[in-house]
Amino acid sequence: MTQQTERFDLYTFIAGAALERGKPFLLECNCGGIVTIMPPFQDEYVVCPRCEARIKMLVIEGDPGYIIGADPDGTPKLLPVQGSSKQHPGKLSPSERDAILAQVKQQFGKKDG
Ligand SMILES: [Zn+2]
Repeated sequence: MTQQTERFDLYTFIAGAALERGKPFLLECNCGGIVTIMPPFQDEYVVCPRCEARIKMLVIEGDPGYIIGADPDGTPKLLPVQGSSKQHPGKLSPSERDAILAQVKQQFGKKDG
């Protein structure tokens, strides 16, 4: 692991497709503050106007609505990918979300076994 000189308060995932579209899109901070991302996208992070958090942007290729992450205790969860035209994971129905997480748990289980 290399030591990073830059410190960030938050990390968020951005759909690569949003950057390719070259149009402004909104990035929501954990505090509920909204940052408007304007092209050209040259900065690796943005600052929330509300809580002043430095938010590092991690670009995910394509246009996924979410990626699979995990809580510190290993519980899988869906992390929203911002700027995506796909459905926000918070808007999936509970049964859809459960089905995805059940799949993930199976995969994790295989890895452990
Ligand atoms: Zn904020």
